Amino acid sequence: MSRTTVDFGIDLGTTNSAVAVLRGVDAEVIKNNEDADTTPSAVWIDKRDKLRVGRAAKERAESDPDNTAAEFKLRMGTAQEKVRFAASGRELTPPQLSAEVLKSLRADVAQRLGEDIEAAVVTVPAAFDMSSCEATRVAAEAAGLRFAPLLQEPTAAALAYGFQSADENARWLVYDLGGGTFDAAVIQLRDGEFTVLNHRGDNHLGGKQIDWRIVEELLIPAVRAEFGLTDLARGAARWRPVVNKLKLHAEKAKIALSRGTSADIEIDLDDGAGRRFEFYYELRREDVQRLAEPFLTRSVNLCRKALEEARLGAGDIAKLILVGGPTLSPYLREHLTHPEHGLGIPLDFSQDPLTVVARGAAIFAGTQRIPGGAAPVAAPGGFTVQLEYSPVGPDTEPLIIGRIAAADGTVPAGLTVELVNSTSRPPWRGGKVAVAETGVFSTTLWAQAGAANTFEIELADASGTRRELTPNTLTYTVGAVETQPPLIHSLNVGLADNTTVRLIERGTPLPARARKRLRTAAPVHRGGGRTGLIRIPVLEGEHARGDRNRTIGRLDITADQVERSIPEGSEIEVTLEIDASRIMVARAYIPYLDAEFENVIDLHTETLPDAAVLRRETEQELERLATVRQRHRDIGNPTSELLLARIDDEQTATDTQQLVEAAAADPDAAVAAQQRLRDLRAAIDEAEDELLWPSLVVRAKELLAYVRRAVDEVRDEIYRRQFDNLEVAVRDAIESRAPDLLRQRTAELSLLWRQILDHTGELPILIFESLARDRNQMIDLRQADDLIEQGNTAVRAGEVTRLRMINARLRQLFAEPPAEPDPFSTIRGA
Ligand code: ADP
Ligand code: MG
Repeated sequence: MSRTTVDFGIDLGTTNSAVAVLRGVDAEVIKNNEDADTTPSAVWIDKRDKLRVGRAAKERAESDPDNTAAEFKLRMGTAQEKVRFAASGRELTPPQLSAEVLKSLRADVAQRLGEDIEAAVVTVPAAFDMSSCEATRVAAEAAGLRFAPLLQEPTAAALAYGFQSADENARWLVYDLGGGTFDAAVIQLRDGEFTVLNHRGDNHLGGKQIDWRIVEELLIPAVRAEFGLTDLARGAARWRPVVNKLKLHAEKAKIALSRGTSADIEIDLDDGAGRRFEFYYELRREDVQRLAEPFLTRSVNLCRKALEEARLGAGDIAKLILVGGPTLSPYLREHLTHPEHGLGIPLDFSQDPLTVVARGAAIFAGTQRIPGGAAPVAAPGGFTVQLEYSPVGPDTEPLIIGRIAAADGTVPAGLTVELVNSTSRPPWRGGKVAVAETGVFSTTLWAQAGAANTFEIELADASGTRRELTPNTLTYTVGAVETQPPLIHSLNVGLADNTTVRLIERGTPLPARARKRLRTAAPVHRGGGRTGLIRIPVLEGEHARGDRNRTIGRLDITADQVERSIPEGSEIEVTLEIDASRIMVARAYIPYLDAEFENVIDLHTETLPDAAVLRRETEQELERLATVRQRHRDIGNPTSELLLARIDDEQTATDTQQLVEAAAADPDAAVAAQQRLRDLRAAIDEAEDELLWPSLVVRAKELLAYVRRAVDEVRDEIYRRQFDNLEVAVRDAIESRAPDLLRQRTAELSLLWRQILDHTGELPILIFESLARDRNQMIDLRQADDLIEQGNTAVRAGEVTRLRMINARLRQLFAEPPAEPDPFSTIRGA
């Protein structure tokens, strides 16, 4: 069968993958070789270099962890760290591993339907960033899928739930809790158009996290206590096989608990030195429920955030549709309908949550034409048709144009064509239309909204005899679905003061382009070596503070690239351009040089986080959290109470700690730990901002008063104007209660103050005084005293230039000269 539309949909899951095909108006799951609907996304390579995918591989993870790989989707697009298969010596990247899963699904299609497919829609979590999407594309291509449009998982699920046939102006919330990813997406239908209004996601939240909690909090302590294995721990290399086995059984028991109230775990454990233990544990539903609670809370909070950002309340959402294996558990449904913990939105779980994404992807695939598909080949004595139409559109009676030809290219007289939909009730026949001598015909068809409509194309010759036609069907779907997922996270550039400038807002359809005019924050001296650098970091994320976002690339302009030195404060025009396939180019134009610099952003630059660094940073954050808590006890308010309680309810801090513990031995945990640490930081930031707000305002107002006085004294029109502008900006930030903004504007204000003081000659005096205060930290006290003496004289005599020189020499007397930091960014706002 030759197809004109893609028709196949693949859910490439963290834990399980599935493939479905559009048949008539319904999507059908294609079972694998073992007659299962889903295939575990796991790969095993034995010592003979034989590669297997699926259940066999997943179960091997237990006995043969060095030769299996699973959950690699979590590392798609992160550092291209290869997974090494010890026995065979093979090394595969996450995209290569995903490609093996896709190949296996393609093989299932070939086996079940006899079709060797080269096109399929592949789904990705809404929380996938650009590099992860790019890696998915690479995987599809490596698996022989020459055309593989990506579709966001929540969109696919909504399609399977018949979203296109929903009421006009319907809004749904898709709740997708999978093995390792969570997505909450608000979807809206308006005027036949289908949009993801907003989404929130977490790439490290899913059933696997519950499994780990069971292992770490229940099973490991039980095994330790019973058999005296004191060093048994997640992350301990020696115990990897045992811990793996515990996790596998924890998952099985957890799944069993969706039906019963307790499940038995019985396993033979082996300490690797010949000792065997028989371990028995009775897992109870209430224990799992307790352990799952913080994750469910986190998921509900993300749903609330998604709604809040879209300015919607629970009452605006018609239903909450459940997707993903963990949504089969009764406690999850209870949690989501709980009057206090839940969302107050009616649930719909009428579709199988494990295959709904693949089926929705297939429905979408029916609307996707295969580009440049091979020209149809006529059967012997038959004809071909080339169709001109859009397989998806808002119209219920679209125009179809086609061109018919025999195998030798001729067109006999008297041909007629009729479109027939035999699956609609009642069956629909479009009536015969004549084919012109050029082979061209046109007709309209009648389509039902809410599903893909398949039409047979019936060709008859002058005598009314049916003739064979290739292809002999076409599909059409009423509705408009975004064919390209929009930008998933906002794109920003980081500035020197750790603020950001947003260039492209998330949710923007691609391709997109934006330009901002900024200024350099450090000079570049031609030939200045390492110190001469304009660094423009490109950040992905929504946080106002630069370092809370993910750095996805940089555009560096180095001293040897410029023809002459660029003074600090030079204008620089930064442009970001991203195309539909998410390749990004960053450009910087410097008018002073009339030169443009460019960097194609390599989406794979982020390296695997270092376990020791994670540990140190986590400790710092925990200390900060303690300080914030203390401050809350002193001067807290209901909002700070709420913000700190959320950290507790979601167990963000303990979760981070546990992941960091596991990070040394488990790269997945390292990536997850980094994400969770970012969440923790953001949560502490929020609470801290709330508590610091009053003092931020006081400081800003004080500074305004000082600078106003200084401006009054210098009587310089330019300073006066700058100050007036900044005053408005500062008051504005105070009024809108935006801590980061206020911080940034206060910083600009103090910069202006510095400039004024420098202009009046007061600045060197202030610097001198502050240096002199630190006299005790200087290495050569005699010289220090001598310089301070000279400095005092210079101050009295008003010798500014001399004082500047003295300051420079004093600075050199410190034991540890301030290190030249690797600049995070060297640009600032215009
Ligand atoms: P993914 O989208 O990440 O591939 P799935 O939707 O296939 O994930 O869900 C896999 C997760 O669902 C696993 O963590 C598995 O333990 C869990 N799961 C599967 N069935 C059940 C069940 N009946 N009850 C609870 N959890 C389940
Ligand atoms: Mg899934």
